[in-house]
Amino acid sequence: MKRFLVSILFLSTGLLIAQNNTSYWQQHVDYKMDVDMNVDNYQYTGTQELVYTNNSPDTLNQVFYHLFNNAFQPGSQMNARLKDIADPDGRMVNNKGTRENPDYESRISKLSPEEIGYLHVISLTQDGQALDYKEVGTILEVKLAKPILPGKKTTFKMEFKAQEPLQIRRSGRDNAEGVALSMSQWYPKIAEYDFEGWHADPYIGREFQGVWGDFDVKISIDKDYTLASTGMLQNADEIGHGYEKEGTKIPKTKGDKHTWHFKAEKVHDFTWAADPEYIHDKLIAEDGTELHFFYKDNKDIIENWKKLQPKTEELLMFYNKHIGPYPWKKYSVVQGGDGGMEYAMLTLITGERNFNSLFGVTAHEFAHAWFQHLLATNESEHEWMDEGFTSYISSIAENQISGSNNENPHTGSYRGYYYLANSGQEQPQTTHADRYAMNALYGTAAYSKGAVFLAQLGYIIGEDNLAKTLNRYYDDWKFKHPTPNDFIRVAEKVSGAQLGWYLNDWTRTVNKVDYGIESVSAEADSTKITLRRKELMPMPIDLMVTYEDGSEELFYIPLEMMRWDKPAENDLKRTMADDWAWGFPTYDLSIPSSKGKVSKVEIDPSERMADVNQEDNVWGGSSEETSENENEQD
Ligand SMILES: [Zn+2]
Repeated sequence: MKRFLVSILFLSTGLLIAQNNTSYWQQHVDYKMDVDMNVDNYQYTGTQELVYTNNSPDTLNQVFYHLFNNAFQPGSQMNARLKDIADPDGRMVNNKGTRENPDYESRISKLSPEEIGYLHVISLTQDGQALDYKEVGTILEVKLAKPILPGKKTTFKMEFKAQEPLQIRRSGRDNAEGVALSMSQWYPKIAEYDFEGWHADPYIGREFQGVWGDFDVKISIDKDYTLASTGMLQNADEIGHGYEKEGTKIPKTKGDKHTWHFKAEKVHDFTWAADPEYIHDKLIAEDGTELHFFYKDNKDIIENWKKLQPKTEELLMFYNKHIGPYPWKKYSVVQGGDGGMEYAMLTLITGERNFNSLFGVTAHEFAHAWFQHLLATNESEHEWMDEGFTSYISSIAENQISGSNNENPHTGSYRGYYYLANSGQEQPQTTHADRYAMNALYGTAAYSKGAVFLAQLGYIIGEDNLAKTLNRYYDDWKFKHPTPNDFIRVAEKVSGAQLGWYLNDWTRTVNKVDYGIESVSAEADSTKITLRRKELMPMPIDLMVTYEDGSEELFYIPLEMMRWDKPAENDLKRTMADDWAWGFPTYDLSIPSSKGKVSKVEIDPSERMADVNQEDNVWGGSSEETSENENEQD
């Protein structure tokens, strides 16, 4: 009876979801993979069983898989784009010219058949029926034998064969620091289907969008290799390599290989790395999370990698507090890859760096465990949420943990954004991550302008509201795929302010912020301050007025379209002024002479408002204060 009731409940929930296109849903996958790696040529074969649950309100007649390895071939789109773009990624090209007159040669175009990457499907069935499929570069297009109805599951079984490419970008064998295998984006990965439809983006350059699910993965590899991986090792006491319980004797087994068995729950990616010379250290953090570190036995780096370990715990505690608790049992910092790249429950970073750089890259990539692997925005579409939010929080964490304690840890992000905004080449942040005219334009829009989005939001709604917004964003959207609108709605609900204008102007246009002090003039019994909005983007204004006796008064000029007033920050004494409605390009503020003679006026002394031209943000305050015509200045 109980069971009957439960199934009725399930059915009716399913119906509700199916009928309401505006309610949130996401697909679910359960992967089972068995992989055999040959360490002589880095070719591998595998089987994959994928149980796919269609939680969408739609009937699916096709599916797509990513075959990322195929990007690393001379005939690929990635290679063509690399040759076409004006500023190719330095890691992916050889410069045959000079620094001033570069002549780039694509490293992909030079790969021999033994060095290219490939990932080919040998067989594919759906619930036992053979399927029609077509490999188109890095995407496998699959016609289904029978449609998957809303709320239904289907099982795909696949055999595949692959070759891990010589490392060109992110994944690959034999990276620049001699790490044998950086196995990211290595398996046939089903593409995401969501409220916007299929996301079968070819692999041209940029990052992630994956389906949430559970992974059960067995990897057979030469016994000498130590593996770092997404998920928890199920047979640690057979494998050893630093995973075993202390004091466990590892039984001798026959054959040359170990079969490592990992399980990972509620992730949208599975990555591993392997090397016969890895040192493997483990630290149990204050919150119980296992922090694992894998790095080469190289005397030049060992000290830095030891020093990194307690700092990684500090980062964990910082992000736990300022975003929300890290939800998995383990996180690994792994030497591998070609810089720094985030994956589920681990990061691959290059390790031959000075300590500050090693700590900085770890701070950034670890923050991505939240802003990508937990709050999984579509990085092709909303790259700024992923890179920008990560840069924002890791800049604060780094600043605090390293003891630098700079007043504004985001000055680098602001500088980058100003350069972009004034370059005339800016593209809106809604640009697909692969479709920026240059890599530099992508980088600045995603990282710098994305970080400024949050730092400036602190100015707009106040730092307390911003902090609460991040915590609530975590609560509401962890293990999901939040969109920009989902984030701004959280900020609206937390603060009470209307913020649609901010999301729209900042992320979907290249409108800029430029406010200036037009004039400060003496009237009969007051001082009149006239401000001007010189660019299109609206903003509320914090205006600091200094009087001749040195006292200060902060005026707050609310932006009318926010229908809201920011609470006073830092216990500063503050005076509310009238709203400024965006349609009026100028605004007058009258200060009665009884308050004193105005000696200085400054727009946003906190410099959190990203004003692209700050020369006109301050009036007075210098030697001119004593000149006779001080009130006539423009
Ligand atoms: Zn990043």
